[in-house]
Amino acid sequence: MAPNIPEKQWAQVIEKTGGPIDYKEIPVPKPGPDEVLINIKFSGVCHTDLHAWKGDWPLPTKLPLVGGHEGAGVVVARGDLVKDIEIGDHAGIKWLNGSCLQCSFCQTADEPLCPSPILSGYTVDGSFQQYAIGKAAHVARIPKDVPLDAISPILCAGITVYKGLKESGARPGETVAIVGAGGGLGSLACQYAKAMGLQVIAIDTGDDKKKMLEGELGVKAFIDFAKTKDVVQDVQEQTEDKTGPNAVLVVAVNEGPFQQAMDYVRPRGTVVAIGLPANAFLKAPVFQTVTQMKTIKGSYVGNRKDTQEAIEFFRRGLIKAPFKTVGLSELSKVYELMEQGQIAGRYIVDTSK
Ligand SMILES: [Zn+2]
Ligand SMILES: [Zn+2]
Repeated sequence: MAPNIPEKQWAQVIEKTGGPIDYKEIPVPKPGPDEVLINIKFSGVCHTDLHAWKGDWPLPTKLPLVGGHEGAGVVVARGDLVKDIEIGDHAGIKWLNGSCLQCSFCQTADEPLCPSPILSGYTVDGSFQQYAIGKAAHVARIPKDVPLDAISPILCAGITVYKGLKESGARPGETVAIVGAGGGLGSLACQYAKAMGLQVIAIDTGDDKKKMLEGELGVKAFIDFAKTKDVVQDVQEQTEDKTGPNAVLVVAVNEGPFQQAMDYVRPRGTVVAIGLPANAFLKAPVFQTVTQMKTIKGSYVGNRKDTQEAIEFFRRGLIKAPFKTVGLSELSKVYELMEQGQIAGRYIVDTSK
C-alpha cells in the first residue's frame, strides 16, 4: 500500500545567506526517475550547516535553502528507475546526496571527489524538512534494527572519522593518536579506532574529557596538551618503542596541532587532516619529512561502501554517539548554542515537532 504523502510539509528555510531562518510550510518535493523521497524522522545538526547558513565557504549555496545532511527516515516514494530500494525501507540523507557516476573518480569509488557533486543542505535542499529527496544510488541504507535518531550523526560525523582511519593506513594492533579526541568527531574516532583493533592515544584538554576518554571510551592513554610540558615527548613515550604512533588523526579546529603532529608521528607514519580550521596551513620541515618518510594527507567524506561499513559498526553496538533531541522548530536555538561553543555531543532535530 502506498503511503499517504501530504502536499505540504514543515521545513526550516533560509531565504538569504546569514539572514533569518523561517520555520514554515513548503510543498513536498517529487522524486525524479533516479531519486527517492524520504520521510525524514530525525536529522543531526552539523557545524557545516552553520557554515552554509552563514556563507562561510567560497562555494555559494542554493537559495532559498533547506539545510541539513544527517537525515534518517523512511522511503515513501521512488522514481521509475529505482529498483533496489523498497517503499518502507529505512534510508539516510548524507552530505554527498549524489554524484555523476561517470567520471574517473566515481568509476573508482572515489565519488566524494566527483567534480560535479550534489551536496545535501548546500546545493540541494537537505534534511531540515519532513520530506527530502536523495539520489537512490547514494542514499544510506539503514537496517531496520537501528534507531533512526541515534544513527543520524553517523551519517556525517561517523562516516567522516571512519574514512579518516581507513585512509591513515594504520593496521590492527598499531597505535593511532587522535587530536581533539574529546569533541564530537574525536569521541566517535576513538570508538571506531578501538573497534578496528587500534590502540588509541587521545590528545585533548580538561578533566571531564579525560574521565570520558579513559573511562567509557577506553583509550590507552590521555594526554592533556594544556598541562604537559612536552606533547611530542609524552605522545612518543606512550608507544611501544617510543618512536611515536603509526598514524595521527587531527580533528582539531585550530592550526597548531596539525603542524605538531608531524613532530611526533612515527617514521613512515601518516598524519591525516580532517578538522577544517579557517585559513590554516599544513607546514612541515622538508628534511625530516624526507629522511623519516612521513606522509601528510587529507581525508574528506566516505564513499558508499564506507557509509555502509560505518553504519554496520554502529549496528553491532560498537559505537555510541551521545545526543540531545529537540523539535525541528527549535533549530535556531541549536545554532545559537553552536556559535557559543556550548555543545557537548550532537543535537538532533525531530521533524514531527
Ligand atoms: Zn556534517
Ligand atoms: Zn563523478
